[in-house]
Amino acid sequence: MEAKKSLGQNFLIDNNVLNNIANVINVSEDDLVIEIGPGQGALTKYLKNKNCYLLCYEVDKDLTKYLDNLENNKTKIIYQDILKSNIKEDIKDIKYNNLFIVGNLPYYITTPIIKYLISQNLNIKEMIFMVQEEVANRFSAKPNSKDYGSITLYLQYYFNITKLFKVSKYAFNPVPKVESAIIKLEKRNKILDVNKDKYFKLINDSFNQKRKTLKNNLKDYDFNKILDVLEKYDLHENVRAEEISEEIFVNICNIL
Ligand code: SAM
Repeated sequence: MEAKKSLGQNFLIDNNVLNNIANVINVSEDDLVIEIGPGQGALTKYLKNKNCYLLCYEVDKDLTKYLDNLENNKTKIIYQDILKSNIKEDIKDIKYNNLFIVGNLPYYITTPIIKYLISQNLNIKEMIFMVQEEVANRFSAKPNSKDYGSITLYLQYYFNITKLFKVSKYAFNPVPKVESAIIKLEKRNKILDVNKDKYFKLINDSFNQKRKTLKNNLKDYDFNKILDVLEKYDLHENVRAEEISEEIFVNICNIL
């Protein structure tokens, strides 16, 4: 079958990589794993070996010939765009313990998929995804690095994010243009003490134009109040957003 570029189809063909991914997904038989984009079932087969509940969302109906024979009493394939799915409804009859979401994601919609999953309020314990390496760096970035930005802080509000390992582009067929990496997003137990919407607006505004200083990006804010917080952390007036940690952003948000 010819891979469909428009659907981000790059199928994993390296068994070592598949084994390494399967090894970092620690699930028990009473857990539920949702796989996004099973494709020809390369990873699905490894997930099935774990005997957990398994629900896969695949948008491409041409893949039924690879996937239908994987279904059994604990494994189900739903041929649907994950972004249009009603996951809560689809899993309501499954008596599972913890929810995991995994997948070698279609790269053209990595961030929309993760944002969609967050918006569904599913109580996800852990997500393990193959993403473009550059994206893995951004999601797991720390302050004072070029990869640190509003998406970093947005996702880290919900999850502890770790880049686990790199995956060569030659592990896929067809070979993509970019290198890849596996990331783990673990649910954070302690919710930040901050108004979520106000915090997300503050970080978006702060990184609005990356080359500008915080002060220039936050022209509509009372910067004197912000300066008080910056001084406490020995940061100068011309600081840029990428130098500011989550803790400091939370403090700034809480005095505004
Ligand atoms: N898991 C397979 C593997 O590792 O070989 C395939 C991974 S491939 C990078 C991404 C898969 O996501 C493709 O099978 C593609 O058809 C599917 N896909 C693309 N957009 C999707 C969407 N909106 N909803 C569900 N699946 C999607």
